[in-house]
Amino acid sequence: MIANFAQWFLHPSDESKIMYHTIMEKVVSLIADQTTRTNKPFSGAPREEIESRVKEMLNIPFAAQKMDDVMEEVQNVIARNSLWVSHPSAMAHLHCPPLLPSLAAEVVINALNQSMDSWDQSPAATYVEAELIKFFTKRIGYSHESDGVFTTGGTQSNYMGLLLARNKACQINFSVHVQEEGLPVEAKRLRILCSEHAHFTVQKSAAQLGLGTNAVIKVAANDKHQLCADDAKEKIEQLRQQGLLPFMIVATAGTTDFGSIDCLSDIAKLANEEQLWFHVDAAYGGALLFSHQYEHLVRDLCLADSITIDFHKLYYQSISCGAFFVKHKRDFQQIAYHADYLNPEEDREDGIMNLVEKSVQTTKRFDALKLVMTFKLMGTDLFGEMVDYTINLAKETAGLLKNEPCFEVLNEPELNAVLFRYLPSHHRHDQRYADEINLELHRTFYQSGELVIAKTKQGGKVYLKFTMLNPLNTIGNMETHIERIKQAGEKIEKEQGETQYEYSVHC
Ligand SMILES: *Cc1c(COP(=O)(O)O)cnc(C)c1O
Repeated sequence: MIANFAQWFLHPSDESKIMYHTIMEKVVSLIADQTTRTNKPFSGAPREEIESRVKEMLNIPFAAQKMDDVMEEVQNVIARNSLWVSHPSAMAHLHCPPLLPSLAAEVVINALNQSMDSWDQSPAATYVEAELIKFFTKRIGYSHESDGVFTTGGTQSNYMGLLLARNKACQINFSVHVQEEGLPVEAKRLRILCSEHAHFTVQKSAAQLGLGTNAVIKVAANDKHQLCADDAKEKIEQLRQQGLLPFMIVATAGTTDFGSIDCLSDIAKLANEEQLWFHVDAAYGGALLFSHQYEHLVRDLCLADSITIDFHKLYYQSISCGAFFVKHKRDFQQIAYHADYLNPEEDREDGIMNLVEKSVQTTKRFDALKLVMTFKLMGTDLFGEMVDYTINLAKETAGLLKNEPCFEVLNEPELNAVLFRYLPSHHRHDQRYADEINLELHRTFYQSGELVIAKTKQGGKVYLKFTMLNPLNTIGNMETHIERIKQAGEKIEKEQGETQYEYSVHC
């Protein structure tokens, strides 16, 4: 007997069509069911239980399991114990509820399975990505000299910013072509500046690029958590006096913790005076390009030599989806490489576009389609309104917290992150006591699964954080959450007070 492989592939046969419809309809129903089942963002199941149920499920069989059994496992073991990111009470990280057009596009992306490295593997998709990049460079305000490429996200985009800047700096300062010759010893003197609130991938990239984390110099931030250009100037002078070579400054449009946006024009001016590569990490704040109310905050993005934008954050696309942009397309030549089997030199002469030349990846997903379908199905106007709604909601939420004496609010939200901490009514000046209560609050809510918020440290103190990406969230919800956090804080204090009392009695 010949095994029936056809039913497992897209194929013109009836078996294949039936299987495709059946299997796709089942997963769609599974997700739709999960949507109605989830009344909280997390099941609250203990870690050990989730781990053991997954281990049990991963008993891989020699022969096929029944489809309905597999679907049930996926639903009950995986979907049910996943963080339900589409719930408005899931607001820990920059982790978005994906838009339906993005989910639909994924079905097309997966089935077409185009690979964006060479034109012959993505004859239409290559132009979709290229045109969408152009649409964005226009929106940014870049000239036709600019270019960009889709990436897996902010980490890869920031890495590319540092990579191009490093190679260019070595060429200018040491006449070394790093791509061929590797790093010269003098590269030890290279320094990068960024704010103390910049994303950790600046250091991580510096480490991977052979510069070391010590090459990253942290510039002080002002009271709005923005990079302080005066301090940067001072640090640059000090570095030069020590014989070091600052070559790059990284600004952030939307810091991960605060959502603060550095003053791009001041930093651009400094970068220009000091001949530094100016990179803007707009992984988070890049969505303001479509905002009706706050677009002015990213108006100076066009001054950057390179830009990071994530689409799987405030653009509400499923993971992964991001892009990297450069003001001068010639800068991509720092990493261009020609493989005879993939993108030979003669392709370039024939005008064939092979995106691999601009990418650090080879096989690459057709993520651009998600954004195209989102913008076409929703329109950019509605998209911009949605972004504005979440920012305004965060501003109102900060206002609610400020009205409560038991909370300290650390930031005036520029995007949609609100950092705050519960202030205990007793031992108010005992910072460790307050830290412990805030950590306990974070734990309590995560374990209950009802409210998923983040915790972070600023100035050595523990803070809680609402990252309010979900446009289906309301101020009414936030009032309820704030009241419950307040009550939980009081309860923890009371219990801790009792334990301490017992402790002193027993001793
Ligand atoms: C999320 C984030 C990154 C990292 O991006 P990934 O998409 O997670 O790789 C970098 N910079 C900032 C400011 C971010 O918010």
